Amino acid sequence: MISKTGEVQRVAGPVVTAIGISPRMYDVVFVGNDRLMGEVIRISGNKSIIQVYEETTGVCPGEPIEDTGQPLSVELGPGLITSIYDGIQRPLPGIMDLQGTNISRGTSIEGLSRTKTWKFVPAVEKGTSVLPGQSIGTVAETPHLEHKIMIPSAFKPGIISEISEGDFKVDQTIATMDNGQEIQLMQKWPVRIPRPYSEKLMPDIPLITGQRVLDFFFPIAKGGTAAIPGGFGTGKTVTQHQLAKWSDSDVVVYVGCGERGNEMTEVLTEFPELEDQRTGAKLSLRTVLIANTSNMPVAAREASIYTGMTIAEYYRDMGLSISMMADSTSRWAEAMREISSRLEEMPGEEGYPAYLSSKLSEFYERAGRVKTLDHNEGAISVIGAVSPQGGDFSEPVTQGTLRIVKVFWALDTKLREKRHFPAVNWLNSYSLYSETLADWFSQNVARDWPNLVQWAVNTLQREAELQEIVQLVGSDALPDEERLILEVARMIREFFLQQDAFHDIDSYCKIENQYRLMKCIKDFNDRISVALGAGISFDKILGLQSREELSKAKYEDDFDGYLDQVMEHLQMECRLWEESK
Ligand code: ADP
Repeated sequence: MISKTGEVQRVAGPVVTAIGISPRMYDVVFVGNDRLMGEVIRISGNKSIIQVYEETTGVCPGEPIEDTGQPLSVELGPGLITSIYDGIQRPLPGIMDLQGTNISRGTSIEGLSRTKTWKFVPAVEKGTSVLPGQSIGTVAETPHLEHKIMIPSAFKPGIISEISEGDFKVDQTIATMDNGQEIQLMQKWPVRIPRPYSEKLMPDIPLITGQRVLDFFFPIAKGGTAAIPGGFGTGKTVTQHQLAKWSDSDVVVYVGCGERGNEMTEVLTEFPELEDQRTGAKLSLRTVLIANTSNMPVAAREASIYTGMTIAEYYRDMGLSISMMADSTSRWAEAMREISSRLEEMPGEEGYPAYLSSKLSEFYERAGRVKTLDHNEGAISVIGAVSPQGGDFSEPVTQGTLRIVKVFWALDTKLREKRHFPAVNWLNSYSLYSETLADWFSQNVARDWPNLVQWAVNTLQREAELQEIVQLVGSDALPDEERLILEVARMIREFFLQQDAFHDIDSYCKIENQYRLMKCIKDFNDRISVALGAGISFDKILGLQSREELSKAKYEDDFDGYLDQVMEHLQMECRLWEESK
């Protein structure tokens, strides 16, 4: 490692100016007598501008600076799952650390344990030709996750000259190549550089979340990008939890960014304890948590997103599907704003740096479904929470995000007030994957899936239009067909869209059940429409027992059996009308 020493010239919060070193951009440096970790973010003449990941109080001009010549990197290998890290991958040994007693300054702790051993099982033999990115064996990282050990992508191709099964520490050599390169369980990767893959694939498979409003109306693809903007208390955290708990991904990387210590503690204590519904084990067994509370230095918060993304890419390279959650990207943008102001850069809108949009898009662009170097399919779906002040979506971070992400799940304060959860506004949310995913839904759930979705969307839109008239003249003044639209829209909202995250059964709704439930609401609509045509009065419809029963279907264990009965009952009630005519 080349290291050069210079000295501190100026300190402004997290930003330090150094002279006497000639680093490359993004080199990691150690600042001051306490050797605080920092990164070179600008070079101007003989001055290097450094953002420091630790509190700089007490650092004075004249103190030494050491350039490591290395970029900010993360350690990748077995042991990431279940870990809780700070923004620069220092393990937080306990949640208590979030509440003030942070890791002491200048502490350098490795991301992966150097004492723990892992059983490595080779998948190739001595004499095999191998390429960068190729898997040469596995480690059972958790009872449910086979962690592939891959040739680092920066390595040259070669032939395995030595490989053995056994228990290894992450930094011990498990295999050697004929060109002298040594492979360990662990590798390193610079966080700001996307890890390579062989090709990007169409995002044409949905990430099933079990949340009806998301899967049915605004689906996200595996490898897709989504934003959840919403004011305080609208359900961002509950939604992120639901996604982590239920979505069909193999690994969850959760970056908690800039919330207050106690809020984060809540998230971090609850989150790993949640049950992973696919395996019955704790959710922590498929989760990597990165936590940066508001009392931790802003520069580490800026880095945390990249640290999380690099870890996600590493698991993607094993051919896995990853959900990456960032909660919240607004706090991340605020960290950029603070650093930018310390750099005395020309501020853009609301003081955010002019490069806010490009930073946001660089981040979301690292999502995607890809063919890996090892010819597997892997995907990273990125879901970013956005917390605009006062729920105002016109501010720069929400707007910047909107231009990039393909799915927008807008949480709405008014819906929250009505206790309509999830408070996803169906009129201004959208998914640009709907069309691409329509084939998958048609082939795997039901041929008429796209039509049914369109029917439901139209009904809700018609309701919104009719509401304006209702406010003026009342619903009684509307013709029966329009009153039916209002009634059916209400059923869609209450029976289908509302979903209780805390109800044992309702918390997750299988995709087939989502289809069936909406289909029953449409059948109801069609039958009543015929009845109205035959002269049945609208008020009778409101008294239908089967309609009441339909409202409870989502809480039923025997969903199909129950709905069969409800629909039979509806048929019977319609027959009775006919007979009584
Ligand atoms: P935010 O993170 O946006 O501040 P939270 O996720 O903490 O908001 O949600 C606030 C409250 O809203 C929760 O404590 C819960 O009572 C309610 N809530 C949100 N989403 C749901 C849901 N899907 N089902 C039931 N309750 C919900």
